[in-house]
Parts: sequence; structure tokens; C-alpha cells
Amino acid sequence: MKDAATPSGIETELEKYRRLFRSMPDYATFSILKTGEFIDVNPGFERLTGYRRDEVIGRTSASIDLWVHPEHRAAIVQRLQTTETTSIETQFRDRSGNIYDVDASMAIFNVNGEALLVATARDVSARKRQEQELEQYRTTLEKLVEQRTIELESAMQKLKDLAAHDELTGVGNRRDLNTHLEQECATFKRLAVPSSVAVFDLDNFKMVNDRYGHAAGDEVIKAFAQIIRREMRVVDYVARYGGDEFVLLLKGITAEAALVPLGRIREAVLAHPWSALIPDVALTTSIGVASFHPSESADDTFRRADKALYQAKLEGRNRVVIAAAP
Ligand code: GH3
Ligand code: MG
Repeated sequence: MKDAATPSGIETELEKYRRLFRSMPDYATFSILKTGEFIDVNPGFERLTGYRRDEVIGRTSASIDLWVHPEHRAAIVQRLQTTETTSIETQFRDRSGNIYDVDASMAIFNVNGEALLVATARDVSARKRQEQELEQYRTTLEKLVEQRTIELESAMQKLKDLAAHDELTGVGNRRDLNTHLEQECATFKRLAVPSSVAVFDLDNFKMVNDRYGHAAGDEVIKAFAQIIRREMRVVDYVARYGGDEFVLLLKGITAEAALVPLGRIREAVLAHPWSALIPDVALTTSIGVASFHPSESADDTFRRADKALYQAKLEGRNRVVIAAAP
């Protein structure tokens, strides 16, 4: 502050402000608004900029290249035409060329018709850096969570598949079959559209295991499942009941009408080139089929189909037997 010849009361007042100005830990300056010329700077300014007070008094902020974004200062000057105080987040450059993020506050006041600017600024580089690090951390965390969610969903899907499918053949397993049987029976009762259950069993399969071993038996079971899948209608559902026994739900058709797709599967098993795997066993399949009936549970219908299968075995195998109505 310029020391003018002032009455001692005012002088004491000014001394109070000067002391306050000097003892502030933050950067503080007095300057002429229009030119940016420094009238006074405090030790906080010296610490932040690296310039000594006597080096900068009378110089402008532009001449020491203080503002990294001079347009910010221009905007402040503009703003102070209409308001007395304002603040801005900007960057200052120190004597060595280091750049700091600062929170700067400015106030304007008039002395003898000259607009003066008092400015304080605080180095917020560390806070900014922390904010950026926090933001980076948050983004990384979000990505990680997103990735983990995808992995978890895929693991859950795999688990669901495992829970519903037969490990050896990939068709439905017994538990999944029960669900489908109940659903199909319920649909049948609600819509009164015919539907049938067929039970398949390989003929003389034990011979495969006995002569060629369990692994060859497994290959035969897999091939059997593939034949059923290939020959069945796309709307139908197949599951492995156990061993060499499979169940097919034939949707929308009676047991009589089911003779067509079932006959096709039986023929395909007969015609399959088993000799490549098991040269001296001729494999065939026996099939029992039953239509759902309004008076029966899903289980009842399944049991009737299974009995018809037993009948097919008794009648000489390699055939389809339709179960009598309950
Ligand atoms: P049938 O014509 O009366 O059906 O005679 P079969 O020899 O096919 O006799 P059955 O269907 O009762 O025998 C099924 C055999 O399947 C009995 C069991 O040792 C065998 N088996 C059951 N599960 C598996 C399996 O996962 N792999 C293999 N390789 N064999 C199995
Ligand atoms: Mg069998």
C-alpha cells in the first residue's frame, strides 16, 4: 500500500490492514485493476510465485507471466465492472515455470477514483491431484465391477446350463425333464391341445458295455442322443432319463400322430453305422408313447409311456408301442 501523508488515526487503521495482509498464509496482492501493476504483495505471494516483493512492485502480472490463462484475468476484469467480488479456478505459473492450480478470489475497491484490485489465491494443486486420482480410481472401479458382473453372469449361465443338462449328452437332465413334463401337462390341460410323451431305450445295450467297455458304451449313448436330436421335430424337447433311456416330449400331437417322428428316429437308430464303433452289436431302440390325458398327472402319463416301452421290449424290441388310454 502506498504510504500517503494521512492523519494518524487513518494511519493506524492502515497499519492494521497492512499487518493482516502480511500475515495471511495465502497469496495476496494489491494491484491496479486496469494495468495489473502490483502495488503490494505479501509473503504468501513470494512463497507461491518465487518472486521477492521488491522484484515485482510496479511490474504487472503479465510481465512476470503469472497467469497461465491470461483470458481468465481478462474475464475477471470484465466481471468486476458489474460486481465487487468474484472468484475463479485457474492456474498460475511461478518463477521457475512450474504451474499450480489455484482458487483465486478478487475484490475491487476505489481509492481516489482509481480502481484497485485485491486478490487472494490458494494453491489447490494437491487437492486437484487428489480429485483426479479419486476420479481415476472410481472409473477403474466401475470398469472392474462391470467386468466382474459380466463374468458372474456368464458363470451363472454356465451353472444354469449345468443344472439343466445331462453332462454326457448335453440334452436335458432328469430334473429339467420333470419341469418340462409338468409344464407340458399344464399347457395341455389349459389349451386342450394334444401332446405326447415318448420313452426310448436302447435294445441290448448291456452287450456294448460288456464287450467294448464303459467308454464305448458312453460313445453309443452320445450317438443315440445325437440321432434323437437330429431326427426330432424342432419344437420337441428331449432329456436323458438315465442309462440308455431318453424321453421325448412331442408337443401338439397325439401318440398316434407321433408315430411319424418316432418311426423316423427308430429307423435312424437302425440305420446308424454302429459297426465303426461296435462291429458285432446291431443296435436298435424300443419306444413307448402315450398321449397326455385330462384325468392324469404328468407322472401318470409318463408311467403309461414307460409301460408301453416295456411292452415294446416284450414284443421283440425295435418297435414303437402306443399306450392304451387310461
Ligand atoms: P434292454 O434291451 O432290455 O434295454 O437291454 P439292455 O442291455 O439295454 O439293458 P438295460 O437298458 O436295462 O441296461 C442299461 C445299462 O446301461 C445298464 C448299465 O450298466 C448301463 N449304463 C447306465 N448308465 C450308463 C452310462 O452312463 N454309461 C454306460 N456306458 N453305461 C451305462
Ligand atoms: Mg436298454
